[in-house]
Amino acid sequence: MFLDVNELAVRKTRIRKSYAPGTLDFHSGEFRQVEPLEVRATAELVEGQIRICGNLHTRVELVCARCLDTVIEEISRDFDLFYRPMTSMSPEEEFQLNLDDTEMAFFEGDGLFLADVLAEQVNLALPMKVICSSDCRGLCPHCGANLNNEECRCEKNGSDSRLAPLARLKQDWFKKQ
Ligand SMILES: [Zn+2]
Ligand SMILES: [Zn+2]
Repeated sequence: MFLDVNELAVRKTRIRKSYAPGTLDFHSGEFRQVEPLEVRATAELVEGQIRICGNLHTRVELVCARCLDTVIEEISRDFDLFYRPMTSMSPEEEFQLNLDDTEMAFFEGDGLFLADVLAEQVNLALPMKVICSSDCRGLCPHCGANLNNEECRCEKNGSDSRLAPLARLKQDWFKKQ
């Protein structure tokens, strides 16, 4: 769906849409949409800016940061966004913008695609780090076993193999002293 600035100038648009998994490009390999994305919103022109206000809902599949198992996360987000035409900025304004680090967004040409707006909102709604459960035990650093599902033998011999090269380096250093 293209939100055309000339059409929005004539009237406000009500949006009720459902995007099946695979129809939106999220520009991310870190998650996968697993349910239709439902959006309810209105788009209108406010003082030359495109305003999109509404909410979206979907579910995505991500990977647990500890054990790499898949986790289904519910995504719900309310948004009220303003997009300015790219051409409206004077060089002074552009300079000011760089100084204030605002969350100003822009559209080029005649408008913008709703799909791009939604993809960005889903990315913003994702948790920084996903864990399948608060007591996830993660993977064994030695053999890679998922410790939620199995006990491995490595646990008992305390040293961490990732630190082994460092330990050896230290030993060499002490020998030289
Ligand atoms: Zn986990
Ligand atoms: Zn192990």
